[in-house]
Amino acid sequence: MKIKQTITRKTLLYKTGVEYGDYTINHVQGCSHGCLYPCYAYLMAKRFGRVKNYQEWIKPCLVSNALELLDNEIPRYKDKINSVHLCFSTDPFMYGYDEISAMSLEIIKRLNDNEIRCTALTKGILPIALSKLSKENEYGITLISINEDFRGKIEPFASPYQDRIDSLYKLYKKGCKTWVSIEPYPTPNIIEQDFDKLLSKISFVDKIIFGRMNYNPQVTKYPGFREFFNKLSQRVIGFCEGRGIEYHIKEGTVTKVKAMA
Ligand code: SF4
Repeated sequence: MKIKQTITRKTLLYKTGVEYGDYTINHVQGCSHGCLYPCYAYLMAKRFGRVKNYQEWIKPCLVSNALELLDNEIPRYKDKINSVHLCFSTDPFMYGYDEISAMSLEIIKRLNDNEIRCTALTKGILPIALSKLSKENEYGITLISINEDFRGKIEPFASPYQDRIDSLYKLYKKGCKTWVSIEPYPTPNIIEQDFDKLLSKISFVDKIIFGRMNYNPQVTKYPGFREFFNKLSQRVIGFCEGRGIEYHIKEGTVTKVKAMA
């Protein structure tokens, strides 16, 4: 698909407050994946007037001066940066948008040329060309289910789950570092699913991040939702420790459960 609109920005690289992030870059406004968990980035874009509504959000606008900004900013931030994450408020490999993928690849390449390591996370398809870039980079996919009907409802315009996993596996086979973000994970009243089956699909990765679903009123309606997330967090820890996989359980996913009187 072709990008219909572009925007320009004054700055690009910035330090993020997100718990596992350092510097980040958002070279696209909006995201065609249109996730309905809901998407926090969309809620913020709407709140701060960057987009009017969902229809506008799912029409991505490329930041046309992104590479120019990057070339100006790299020398300024180079010594302070540990890594750059693509992306926290959009998706770097938006499904079906070759222009976005091409720009993301070029951004990673330029950062790597300056000895800056990158991490990327997508609900699209990770291009195999990433395998030619620095082996210090880490490439990830989001995977909260392997049920395609559910994907169609909650991540309507993102890539099919199996294609996403396959693209990650190909990079793993090429010797790249890979990871999976199982976040925002839903409660069984949203979808009943076999968590172990999902884990078994990604046993080849180097790192797993697990986090509960937030901002969805259905979650807290599920009786015992705290126990549910505590139990699944333990499953992730056990799965990873048994296989030498690094893990991170997102803040607020494991909580204390009040004892019954
Ligand atoms: S892929 Fe990420 S940024 Fe895009 S709609 Fe989904 S949650 Fe939002």
